[in-house]
Amino acid sequence: MPDNFQPDHSAHAPLRLRLDGEALVSNWRALKKRSGAADCGAAVKADGYGLGALEVVKRLSKAGCREFFVAHWSEAVALSTIIEPSQISVLNGAGADDMDVALTLGARPVLSTVEQIKRWKIAGGGVCHVMIDSGINRLGIGPEQFDAALFNGLQIDILASHLASADEDSPQNEAQLRIFQGAANQIKAQRLSLSNSAGIMLGPDYHLI
Ligand SMILES: *Cc1c(COP(=O)(O)O)cnc(C)c1O
Repeated sequence: MPDNFQPDHSAHAPLRLRLDGEALVSNWRALKKRSGAADCGAAVKADGYGLGALEVVKRLSKAGCREFFVAHWSEAVALSTIIEPSQISVLNGAGADDMDVALTLGARPVLSTVEQIKRWKIAGGGVCHVMIDSGINRLGIGPEQFDAALFNGLQIDILASHLASADEDSPQNEAQLRIFQGAANQIKAQRLSLSNSAGIMLGPDYHLI
């Protein structure tokens, strides 16, 4: 090794992502504007995609964002210290081990299997969201599993589905939209949610309310 060797620390430094609070808020505002009449929530799972969920939620909440989505109940518990639990949705839904916290916290589970729906009804869980499988993504309850008795007695706030290929100009998007609209005609819910960030860019047909 030469005497004048200078180790290049930058090459070995762990990856860092810095939160630019103003950019975050202006990005959310841009997406909200693009969403037309639809509400624009924020997915802040994985600790706000590594930015720090509490910091992200504080800023977006102040900017007017009212719906926040996390993957796990532990994340919902952490967020419930700074926002109303009813503004928090837990994408993993309500597994058997989640029921204690799910029934007390007041955050909304996104129920995504028949088993979760039955468990939630038996427990008298109250307001919830339901995830529908509208395409190839295999997330949620598929139309072949629908029956009136399944959804009877559920207080569904948001009926949701996830676009598998929203970032592509794919015929799948329209197919998913049609299937989801069919589900929405059969299942009573307060609100509908289909578009992730990329889905917002697909235009007004995808801005469901
Ligand atoms: C993460 C997630 C979203 C949000 O996706 P973005 O691309 O971050 O907008 C939407 N729906 C589900 C089911 C998710 O897990």
